[in-house]
Amino acid sequence: MRTVITLSELGSARRSFSGTVGLVPTMGYLHEGHLSLVRRACEECDHVVVSIFVNPTQFGLNEDLSKYPRDLDRDLSLIEPIGADLVWMPTAEIMYPHGYQTWVDVEVITHHLEGSMRPGHFRGVTTVVTKLFNAVQPHKAYFGQKDAQQAAVIRQMTRDLNFPIEIVVCPIVREPDGLAMSSRNVYLNAEERKAATVLYRSLSAARNLYENGERDAGELRRIMREVLATEPLVQMQYVSCADYDTLEELETVTGKTLLSMAVFLGKTRLIDNFVLG
Ligand code: AMP
Repeated sequence: MRTVITLSELGSARRSFSGTVGLVPTMGYLHEGHLSLVRRACEECDHVVVSIFVNPTQFGLNEDLSKYPRDLDRDLSLIEPIGADLVWMPTAEIMYPHGYQTWVDVEVITHHLEGSMRPGHFRGVTTVVTKLFNAVQPHKAYFGQKDAQQAAVIRQMTRDLNFPIEIVVCPIVREPDGLAMSSRNVYLNAEERKAATVLYRSLSAARNLYENGERDAGELRRIMREVLATEPLVQMQYVSCADYDTLEELETVTGKTLLSMAVFLGKTRLIDNFVLG
């Protein structure tokens, strides 16, 4: 496995690949969720590139950019045995050189959910993913369902900009107690970590209602809020029952549907979701 930093090193490594290339974009501090994407890419592609870049432009002013967890040596030791060919770790100066002024902005679908809570977040995501796509020129790119809106926005952008790239969305990997794996889970203290299972319990309660025939989206949102409210440490930001593709809030559940939520546990912001139908 090679590791590269500069665009010219990346370019020469990329030119040495023949056959299909898969890209797994990450911000590092890898866990089993990330590794599941790398494994899937290695199964499906002749060559796999993993990028590790904590993208400053997708963090808000009051967010955790400076303290975002990092451990490159550990990341590389986790990726290598899976069989990726290349890890690209660009610097912020390489991605956003002095005088940088070009942005990719996806419109309507970014206005809901995470977009409404984190202004500018998706502009940072779509810009950096476009730059990763242009530099790596993958045939397939792998994203996690954990960031459901991100996956929907990237699909939209890929269609809109005619990127000849297949977007593969992989299932959420969870801890044994249901908590979705996240690099940010390390911020939780013991008490918060215990309380964090309430996201999974809340989504499960809504899914149970759905499986028992409930199709009123308001009822599904209500039960999610009700279960979250049983946990005093949790501060809810939103719960949503929305169309899977457009992310518009639903009145009635008919087709493929995204149940999602964002909460604060102390200072840590957690998101989770289930797909119905
Ligand atoms: P991040 O490093 O947080 O930007 O995540 C990189 C990729 O890993 C994104 O496509 C995430 O959706 C995906 N990912 C993060 N956590 C999980 C998880 N628990 N299960 C599956 N994919 C995940």
